[in-house]
Amino acid sequence: MADKKIYKIVYDKGKCIGAANCVQVAPDTWELDKDGLAKAKKVTFTDEELDKQLKAAKSCPTHAISIVGPDGKKIV
Ligand code: SF4
Repeated sequence: MADKKIYKIVYDKGKCIGAANCVQVAPDTWELDKDGLAKAKKVTFTDEELDKQLKAAKSCPTHAISIVGPDGKKIV
């Protein structure tokens, strides 16, 4: 089996306003902490999740979430 490509979630908590869009789009990846700000349940994911993770990142009104591809380049 070929190695799976690994993508990285980069999250800037300082930008988060607790809108929870990310939690709605990807509840398996995002939750709100006790302060009502987003907290990532994981920091990496593979190809199968790319669509969902991009959608979650793009749903953030303050652009607090970035996705970095296997080549180290920022996708969102
Ligand atoms: S969508 Fe953005 S602002 Fe809203 S909780 Fe998620 S990271 Fe925070």
